[in-house]
Amino acid sequence: DAARQFAELREKLSPQGNVVSEAGRQRTIELFGAPLTPQQVVEKICQDVRSRGLEALLEYTRKLDRKELTAQTLRVSKQELSAAHAQADPKFLETIRRIRENVLEFQQAILSSDVVIRRVVDNARVELRQRYLPLKRVGICVPGGAAAYPSTVLMTAVPAQAAGVPEIAVVVPPTQYGAYNSDLLATCHELGITEVYRIGGAQAVAALAYGVEGLPRVDKIVGPGNLFVALAKRHVFGEVDIDSIAGPSEVIVLADESANPAYVASDLISQAEHSPGSAVLITWHPPLMAAVQQELERQLERLERGDLARQSLEDYGALILARGEEEAARLTDELATEHLHISTKNPDELLNKVQNAGAIFMGHYTPVALGDYVAGPSHVLPTGGTARFANGLCANDFLKRSSVIRYNREALALDADAVRMIADKEGLTAHRASVDIRLQD
Ligand code: NAD
Repeated sequence: DAARQFAELREKLSPQGNVVSEAGRQRTIELFGAPLTPQQVVEKICQDVRSRGLEALLEYTRKLDRKELTAQTLRVSKQELSAAHAQADPKFLETIRRIRENVLEFQQAILSSDVVIRRVVDNARVELRQRYLPLKRVGICVPGGAAAYPSTVLMTAVPAQAAGVPEIAVVVPPTQYGAYNSDLLATCHELGITEVYRIGGAQAVAALAYGVEGLPRVDKIVGPGNLFVALAKRHVFGEVDIDSIAGPSEVIVLADESANPAYVASDLISQAEHSPGSAVLITWHPPLMAAVQQELERQLERLERGDLARQSLEDYGALILARGEEEAARLTDELATEHLHISTKNPDELLNKVQNAGAIFMGHYTPVALGDYVAGPSHVLPTGGTARFANGLCANDFLKRSSVIRYNREALALDADAVRMIADKEGLTAHRASVDIRLQD
């Protein structure tokens, strides 16, 4: 039963499972005169921005975001950024700086650096190098439809800065939660981000990918967003790199008898309040399951976003009683969740049994919120079962690598026969000749 329940959940958690509201459907009809699918909407918007550039970008911003912008007001000015910073609560800015330090410390520590190996036989010398360089220009999508997310700026821009990316362009919808949110602008200013554009949705992704007048194209687009942002990133992939296609947020809490039901319930609700957000408890201790159920009711009653979280728990939640730790670990691996919280007496034991999870939170005093906001690893993580093969965003995703190969004549002579053999097998005679011509001299 658990496996079937999981399969259904996974289906719902794919980006396509990300539903469009009735208002959204109406807007599509208004815009295109027909009830297009989100996929069709995104293709149309991307093609339009590609062929008509700034004009199409401003037109979609007017129609979808109800905002009349011009070539001059598209980009947030330096004065607006510094004014937002000057007005910001000093304690908020202090917090941003503290988090920035945490993120930088972790991201710089994990940053890949050049590797060189040498093979030396008598006078023959081979040098092989892996060279890493930062991407030149990166675009960051910050959502702004339903809430403001300074944390998204921190968790995407700071890893890029740790990698040494010199140009960062932030796109954020022209809303009170987005490009008109002074905390968000103050955060950008504090991090030294000077390029902030008042655009969102598929049109912003297309503008970053193809470039429009006043907004040069980028090499990679990262960051979360709604269904239109996710589908647009998939559409432009290949023209530019992207981080991932994110669906709704998810957590699995693995808990034993040592877990506090009130803590566990708060962990489940804090994921569900993303609305939609999926929260799954797996335990092998029946009394804990019952106690968590009671706690959920108690806490949902008191919460501001209680109704939204309740709906999310009903649609995307599950409380699962496993036969034991082994089964719990196997089910967790199958769902390959974005966040895994191991709330047990000895979390390291279970850690060793689970392979698939974007970020793992250990013990009773490490709520997911620490990873969302403060700790250091990015909160942009693989969702919808993709933790089977994908990773959370990190500084290394902003590096590209080249291999650098150097032989001298003696080393060429040592490997020549191997080249000739493969070149003959593949019938590529010019490959063989490129070696022979050097050794004949
Ligand atoms: P958003 O800001 O990503 O996108 C809003 C834009 O979508 C609008 O500007 C508009 O241009 C476009 N749009 C809206 N309706 C449309 C329609 N019918 N047709 C075409 N385009 C349309 O949206 P949001 O509401 O803020 O959603 C952000 C999502 O990102 C949420 O699901 C949130 O939970 C998630 N999120 C994830 C993380 C993470 O790190 N995983 C962090 C923050 C937010």
